[in-house]
Amino acid sequence: MKKFFKVLYQSKKTHLSAGRSKARLGEIKTAHGVIKTPAFVPVGTKGTIKSLTPSFLKEIKTQVAFVNTYHLVTHPGVEIIKKAGGINKYSGLNIPLMSDSGGFQVFSLARKNKGSRLVFSSISPPSQRLQKQALSLSQEENVLFEKQPALVKISDDGVKFRSTFDGSIIEFTPEKSMEYQRKIGADINMAFDECIPYGVNYQYAKEATERTHRWLKRCIKEIQNSKIKSQNDKSKFKILKIKNNQFLYGIIQGGVFEDLRKKSAEFVVSQPTDGVAIGGVSVGESKKEMRDQVRWVSPYLPEDKPVHLLGVGQIDDILDLVGYGIDTFDCVEPTRLARMGTIIKLKVKSEKLKVEGEKVDILKGVYRADLSPVNEDCSCFVCQNFSKSYLHHLFKTKELLAYTLATYHNLWVMEKLFEEIREMIGKDLI
Ligand SMILES: [Zn+2]
Repeated sequence: MKKFFKVLYQSKKTHLSAGRSKARLGEIKTAHGVIKTPAFVPVGTKGTIKSLTPSFLKEIKTQVAFVNTYHLVTHPGVEIIKKAGGINKYSGLNIPLMSDSGGFQVFSLARKNKGSRLVFSSISPPSQRLQKQALSLSQEENVLFEKQPALVKISDDGVKFRSTFDGSIIEFTPEKSMEYQRKIGADINMAFDECIPYGVNYQYAKEATERTHRWLKRCIKEIQNSKIKSQNDKSKFKILKIKNNQFLYGIIQGGVFEDLRKKSAEFVVSQPTDGVAIGGVSVGESKKEMRDQVRWVSPYLPEDKPVHLLGVGQIDDILDLVGYGIDTFDCVEPTRLARMGTIIKLKVKSEKLKVEGEKVDILKGVYRADLSPVNEDCSCFVCQNFSKSYLHHLFKTKELLAYTLATYHNLWVMEKLFEEIREMIGKDLI
């Protein structure tokens, strides 16, 4: 295996306020292909980018996608995925994949339960609507979720809950999360962390951040132990080569508190992981607070490891965040908007160093008879072949193709945006 991450070019731009730009061009090498960074990572929660076949992703030139461990553990279960040869083979996606730790979902679930007060005493519980959003449950799952509180036990060790699918008990601890992710087999794995909800006090954020640090050490240890075990198995069965193509990212937490964020960045960057992610952002805070949390840790980010920002990818934020040193972004927005009939239009103003995303609601009555292309400035398959009227008609009549066409276009736009960003870095514009 060649080097996992390589910086190809470091921007020479200097910002008056923030000093030297940390924007860079890089390459992440995985067993399923190379990711040119900065890159956008669309979310394929259950092992599919909703409504797109893998061949569409090839056309769009999607470089990498994100899958959610919690969802795959509850269905179809990691043993089936492992038996199939890993999520890439199982899903036919055949591109580099990242998986999360499951922490975000299981802790949202845990907070719903009153028993969680034992551990999360200082939390002001978020509204049920916010919790549901955080869990991204389907309509059907929501019904089950409300009927039977799924949580069984929460401790400093992790969370135990009952599956909404078959009632079986599922446990998430740092070790379990690593084991699940190993079996799922995505190229890049996230350490088990506690995503700190917005609005908690300093003491809570401090304890949760320290817990996340202890868990990172346990994740690293679990991986080391599993390697020793596989080496022993190797000598036992005389297997020639151990396959170790999975890479671990540690996650920086700290909430909205500057000193906690900085301490967390220092700790996580000092650990022997392959990459670093910033978590607990975009959880209900303002845009300014979200950017601050990334800006604070920017000076601490590693030069020789890739940096991922979890759950952020709104077009108007990305340029600044790339300047703070972020290499990859996962975000549900472009695909979620597409399913609601919202088409993203990109306006790149390189000379002003600005990228704007305009959102067009194709369901508006004005598009019913509009035979112009979905987006005049776009060269994607959808915009070359279909009119606004046709897409409007598909959405209005709830035809399945509507979701495919809108998702195709929105992800194409995100790829174009990142191509543009990589060019801008090459010219020292970011
Ligand atoms: Zn298009």
